Amino acid sequence: MSAIIIDGKAIANTVCQRVEKQVKEFKQQIGREPGLAVIQVGEDPASQIYVCNKRVRCRELGILSFALDLPANTTEADLLALVEKLNCDPQVDGILVQLPLPKQISADKIIRAIDPGKDVDGFHPYNMGSLFIGNPRLVPCTPLGIMELIYSTGVDIKGKKAVIVGRSNIVGKPITMLLLQEHATVTLCHSRTQDLAAECRTADILVVAVGQKFCVPGDWIKPQAIVIDVGMNRDESGLCGDVAFQQAKERAAFITPVPGGVGPTTIAMLMSNTLKAAQLREGRKQA
Ligand code: NDP
Repeated sequence: MSAIIIDGKAIANTVCQRVEKQVKEFKQQIGREPGLAVIQVGEDPASQIYVCNKRVRCRELGILSFALDLPANTTEADLLALVEKLNCDPQVDGILVQLPLPKQISADKIIRAIDPGKDVDGFHPYNMGSLFIGNPRLVPCTPLGIMELIYSTGVDIKGKKAVIVGRSNIVGKPITMLLLQEHATVTLCHSRTQDLAAECRTADILVVAVGQKFCVPGDWIKPQAIVIDVGMNRDESGLCGDVAFQQAKERAAFITPVPGGVGPTTIAMLMSNTLKAAQLREGRKQA
């Protein structure tokens, strides 16, 4: 039997409806909207689309959006000064610096300069560290979205074997921690993993975040697995994932499509993180 296709757009809409309702309540209680500052340096076309989508979602949900578009030749010192200004701005609850940054700017330095309480991307070492010691505060959006997709299947994560392919700081490592927190037994694979096929074939939950078209073939999927394909690869026919979807869906119980799986939930969780940052700043929420 063919897998159930996990509808990322529908799940993202449900998250956004919840955020919209809570934004209204926040405004009633506090007397202002949550605010998100999105900084883009330069004119990378993919980044422009992501930034535009984030700003549109803010408007839809009643979140105040501050658009800060800087030229490609912006210096690191200028960007650090802007981040510092936003750190002190009481209307700004979340600061997102769209990556990648031009070569003259160290992304690491900029991420460390963001107030951890406003770090809605969850990339600051304080937020990463909090997640790793099992006390998550602001958690990266893509892994949070992946958890929503897994929860939507209704499958109990506890005790399941989860395999993650890709060990980046923005996807692989944080999703490992989130699944561990839900009591999965997690294996984190990467380019030096010796027998990736064998590892994948053990996975009740398989999360692939590599960035190579169809690097996971269908016969690596354990029958009845949950398959989350994070990859976004562009070719002449459009966007495709890291998993050979057509073959994989004949073995999996649940699978995300590309596009329409992980992507929409990432933006939804950014909205949710902005609200959470605002609530934490106003003392309305426990981390
Ligand atoms: P990175 O390039 O930072 O990391 C890729 C990881 O894949 C690395 O850990 C690398 O291993 C591993 N890898 C590379 N080749 C292989 C291989 N042959 N076998 C096993 N592992 C391998 O990628 P990101 O995590 O930033 O992104 C991954 C994909 O997810 C991309 O397509 C990206 O566009 C997409 N993405 C989608 C998002 C969304 O919202 N939908 C958000 C973020 C990313 P090593 O560490 O050993 O080099």
